[in-house]
This record gives sequence, structure tokens and C-alpha cells, in this order.
Amino acid sequence: MRLKIQVTGIVQGVGFRPFVYRTAVRNGLSGYVKNRADAGVEILLEGQEQAIRQFLKNLKKDKPPLAKFHHIITSKLPGRNEHTEFVIKKSSNEAELSGSVIPPDIAICNDCLIELRDPKDPRFEYFFITCTNCGPRFTIIEKLPYDRENTTMRAFPMCGFCLNEYKDPLNRRFHAQTVACPRCGPRVYLTDAKGKVLREKDPVREAGKLLSEGNILAVKGYGGFHVAVSTTKPKPLMRLREVKHRSQKPFAVMARSLGATKTFAEVSKNQEELLTSYVHPIVLLNKSREYYLSDSVAPGLHNIGVMLPYTGLHYMLFDKVEDSAFVMTSANPPNQPITKDNDEALGTLKGTVDFFLFHDRQIAHRCDDSVVRTHGADMVFIRRSRGYAPAPITLRRKAKRCVLGLGGELNNTSCILNEDKIFLSQHIGDVDNIETRGFLDEATKHLIRLTNSRIDAVVCDLHPKFVTTHLAQQWAEENSWQLVRVQHHYAHVAALMVEHDVGEIVGICCDGYGYGIDGEAWGGEILSCTDEASGFKRVAHLEAQPMMGGDLATYYPLRMAAGILHGHVDLEDWLLGNRRHFPHGEKEVNIILQQLEKENVIRTTSCGRVLDAVSAVLGICHERTYEGEPSVKLESIAVKGKDKLKLKPIIRGDTLDTTKLLLGIFENKDKHSKADLAYSAHVYLAEGLAALAIEKASENNIKTIGFSGGVAANEILTLTMGKIVKASGLRFLVHRDVPPGDAGLSFGQAVASEFFHF
Ligand SMILES: [Zn+2]
Ligand SMILES: [Zn+2]
Repeated sequence: MRLKIQVTGIVQGVGFRPFVYRTAVRNGLSGYVKNRADAGVEILLEGQEQAIRQFLKNLKKDKPPLAKFHHIITSKLPGRNEHTEFVIKKSSNEAELSGSVIPPDIAICNDCLIELRDPKDPRFEYFFITCTNCGPRFTIIEKLPYDRENTTMRAFPMCGFCLNEYKDPLNRRFHAQTVACPRCGPRVYLTDAKGKVLREKDPVREAGKLLSEGNILAVKGYGGFHVAVSTTKPKPLMRLREVKHRSQKPFAVMARSLGATKTFAEVSKNQEELLTSYVHPIVLLNKSREYYLSDSVAPGLHNIGVMLPYTGLHYMLFDKVEDSAFVMTSANPPNQPITKDNDEALGTLKGTVDFFLFHDRQIAHRCDDSVVRTHGADMVFIRRSRGYAPAPITLRRKAKRCVLGLGGELNNTSCILNEDKIFLSQHIGDVDNIETRGFLDEATKHLIRLTNSRIDAVVCDLHPKFVTTHLAQQWAEENSWQLVRVQHHYAHVAALMVEHDVGEIVGICCDGYGYGIDGEAWGGEILSCTDEASGFKRVAHLEAQPMMGGDLATYYPLRMAAGILHGHVDLEDWLLGNRRHFPHGEKEVNIILQQLEKENVIRTTSCGRVLDAVSAVLGICHERTYEGEPSVKLESIAVKGKDKLKLKPIIRGDTLDTTKLLLGIFENKDKHSKADLAYSAHVYLAEGLAALAIEKASENNIKTIGFSGGVAANEILTLTMGKIVKASGLRFLVHRDVPPGDAGLSFGQAVASEFFHF
């Protein structure tokens, strides 16, 4: 019998060909296996029918741990057998099927870790030790098929020893494209701030020592550079904050081990699984009572982002020091993508760092670390990037068209919907500047090539001025793609519906800002959504509140509070008492007081802005230096509180009154603790939004309520709302596969345009 098999999925870069080879030989079959340029694998088998059947069984049952099958397409071939043995054939440039993709980068595996520490092993203490089961993939590939010459490992011809392993079917590095050793592979070296090479015999451990002593280092990793610094020495930390102009934004840390993590943070069972999974994401963990890292690592927050070492280099950084963790934050100039090239790093980081730990392997594609947190037992994505991208999310629906989603403006990603698969790009960032727009362009085109997708339609936001809106219009015109525009919050809720495959939902969608159907600023919406024609409707929302000074109210939340409280309390004394929190002091306060009397102010229904205002009234945060700062700091205070205020939510028609909330907080600010008031504010919003959603669900006979938008990353709101909704007998859904915030927006746009009526 002769059988041709085409396998799609994640089958390149995961040790699949060696596995097929061994399985075929074991079953006495001849033929070949080869990679194709559509990221799929083609197999030809010749031999006894019985043996071929056994092969197919083994194929499904014993596949390599990182391989994922989408389709196994078999066809019997006529004619005589042509092969006398089984071989791994040279890869072909044929690209016919779409939907396969190469794997994400994978954290160092246990086998490699054991070799790294074994003095008898030829790769003892080799920083770039990898195998078929671990190492970089997505970040080194330039084009398909996944062969060494198509990756940035091309620059490192294998030595005899590595080549022998590469060719030996019994070796665990048989056909591992990243195989390398100290003799033939990438080299690591230390330089001073100007790029002058320091002849260190042991550059990685020396770098660790320099960190421990209080220096700032740039460390090149898989998907870009990290800036690293001690977690316990306030001086270099403050220096880093100064040069990076990041006075408050939390830094993620890399802990030397799980045990070390537990000395400063609380780690639950599911958080432990996340930390040690092959992704090794940054996990937000609650600081423990014994927390001893410097306050300037994650100022004003109850939690801290922690990841474990994911390369040999990371492990070795800790070898000669006692530190339990180092700050490891993405190295990027303000509002620009993560730095990836050595020259680029020297240019952009030279004023920031004291030393560079370089290696000489190029990074083909930038990829930031992923960030996740947990809400009780559930995992919530904050950023889905390294270790996840570009692996697809499988839907329970199949698209007819191939759709590209370009996302919004902040925290952006792009994505491709191809049949029942969604391929989400790595984290791109805020695309309101030229560099990040370039990154979006390049990452999206690369994703289209990697998945061999033929795009039919491109989707963007309703906002007329977003960079992504212009880009979508341009690409639609250039390529004759259909252009679809989807409202921001509709897209968020559509994502939730498709993730859970529900046909109708009442969606609560809360975030900072989204351009509404009416052109107004939305952000605290209740949407009734069905997959019938014109099935998306805004049915309720938060009270529209004035934004004093427009966008300035986003940066200085006291302005938001003033607008809400105007007419209810005497603002003059209070604002003047807070004059130091305005950049222009008393003068600015006086202007605000005048503006309050005017009628035509921009209004917003944003939930984020209400949380910001509460944060400002409680004196928790007066200036937003990073996205979400006032509200995440509010949550951090609230976790220690109780609902002592017991404010009853006021609902008027389809509107949840937020003036009453802020007034309640304001009037009681000297009667209860900040923590209790912060917690009560959360409860008010959760109860009010849940009550409105339950009412709308019952009016429309819908049995499911969902929570989406950036605010859905808030644990107190999510858990409180969930409890109320479930107690009313309805289902409560939250995001599982994509971030609830704008990092998941492109996903929502793509599925909304394909599965719903827009
Ligand atoms: Zn390995
Ligand atoms: Zn070698």
C-alpha cells in the first residue's frame, strides 16, 4: 500500500519529522517525511497495510509533546513502491494549505537543564542550550519551512559533534534546528555602556554579579532586550526609573526559582502551574506579608509580576549571587517596541544602562513576555505574547472568509481568522507613533505569510482617527479586501461570545475609552447581543460624566472627580486644598472652577474614569503616569477592605448613577478607612452593573451575562459581579483565551465581522 499523508497544525519545530521517521522505521515502512512551506508536513508511506494502520495509530497517540494536529489528510496513491528505506527529505517550497504555523518560543526543558549543570556534558554551562522540545522558534524564523537556513541560526554552521547529534535518529537533538554548542553556536559577551567588549571568561555570571552590586544591565534574550537591575537596592532602581521616565509603572521581576518566589510572594497551586508551564509567563502574584523587595519595584500595588528563568542564560545569571530576583523589564524607548538588535540597543539604551550582556544571534522577530493573572481559579490574560504567539486559538465555529483584525490604538495586537483558527500576533503596543506602527505592519505581514493566509476582509475600529483605521483603509484599497468597521465594545463582547460559542448574551463592557456608535466616549456599557441581524444593541450604560479639560481628565483624575461632584459639594476649598496635585497649581484650579460653570463639556460613560475619580478622591492616585494607574492602585488598596459603606446602587431607567457613588465616597472619606471605601466603590459598581444586566437579560429572555473590556482584569469587580449573576440563576462568562482589554480587541473585531451582522 502507498499512502500520502498531509498533516497541518503545529508540526514544524517540535521534533515531528524525527518522530515520524522513528515511527515509520519501527513499523518497517519506507517512504519519506518533509516540511512544506505552508508550515505543514508531508509524509509518504510504502509497506504493508497493517503496518501503515499501526503507524497512523502511533501518530495520533505518541506525538511529540509540543505538536498539535489540526488535520490529517490521507490519500492512497496508485502505482508501485518507489522507496527502499524511510528518509527525512529536504524541505519543499510548496505551499498549498493554510492554517498551520510554527510554534511559539518554549522555555528551557528539564533535559536541557540537567545537561546545563552536568560538568561532563559538552554543553555544560552553555547559555544557549536547546533541543527539539525547547528553545526559540517564533523569534528566530525568517521564512518557512522551518529549517536552519531559514532561521537566524543560519549564521552558525554546526560542528562535527552537533552535526552527529543532528543526524542521529536516536539522539534527542535529531533534526533540532537550534542545536548548537560552545564550539559552534552563538556566543555571549559583556560590554561596557559604550559597547566596548570586556574580556570576561564567564560573562553571564559576571553580569549577575554586576546586577547584584547595583548596576543596570541590558540583557539580550529570545524576543528582545530586558533591562535588569537589583530588586533590593533602591538607588539603582530609582536611577532606572529616572532615566526611563517611569516614576510609578511596575517592573516585572525574574526570580531565581519557585522557592525564591515564595519568600516574597504568595503562590497558589494554579499560579505555580502557570509559572512553571513551558510558556513561563509573567504571573501577577500577591506580595506576601514577608515581602522584602524594594518598594520601588511595584510601587503602590498589592501584587508583583514574577517570571521564572526561561533560558540557560537566565539560570546562570543567578549562579554567583544570593539575590532571589532581578528586575527584568522590556527594554524599549518610550512608546516604542521592544529593542531587538545589538546596534539598536547600543543606540537607544546607552544612557540607561551601565553594561550590556549581548549575544551574537540575531532576533528575527520581537516578542515581549506574556503577562497573566488569576481571578480565583481562573487565568486571565493581560498580555498574550511570548510562549503563546503565534499558536492559534481553536473556535467551535468555522469562518467562510479569511479575516484580518487590526485592533485599536493602545496595547494593540493584530489577528487572522482562518476557518476555525484564530492566530493572534505577539504584543505590539501603542500604535500612535511611527515605530510601533511599523512593527504592526511588519508583524502582521509576517503572520499572514507564516499561516499562508489569503485575506478576504480587514476589520478596524469605528474611530475615524486611529492609525489602525487608516491602515485598514489603505490595505483594503491596495489588496481589494473588503473593509469592515466594528464598534469597540461590540468587538469585546463578540470575542466573549465566540470564545464560549454562545449565540446570545448580555455583555457588560467596561474600559477606559471606546468610540461609540453615536461618536460619544463610551466605556461603561451594557450590550444586548445576539447572532441575528442587527443583533447588537446598547441597552444600558453608566451615567455620562463630564471630562474637565477633555483628555487632561484622563491624566489628572481630580479633574474627573471635580466634574462629577460639581453642584453637589463646595469644590473650591477642596480643589484649592489639592492644588499641589495640578501641574499649574492654583491657576489651574481657578480655570477648572470657571469651566465647571459652562455647559458644553465632553462627557464619557467610562467605568475606568469613575474608578480613577474614586482613586483621586481617596488620595490614592492624582496623576496617571501609566495606563490604568489610578484604578489598579485603587484595586490594590481595596483588596484589604470590607464593604462598610453599603451604598445602594441607584438605577434610573437604563443608567447607573455614578454621581451618588462618588458623592458617597467623598462625604465619608473621613469616616471609614481608604481600604473600606475603595472596596465599597467596587461593590457599588459591581452590584449596579450586575443588576442592570440581569434586568436586561430578563427583558430579552437571555440566559447568559458576560464581562469584558480592560476593567474586567479587575478581580474584585469580576468576582463580585459573577457571584451576583450566578445567584440570579444566570450563566456568567469571562474571557479565557484572549485578554479582556484591548490586547484582545483584534480577535473581537475579526469574529464580529465574520459571525455577526455588521
Ligand atoms: Zn530542551
Ligand atoms: Zn557544536
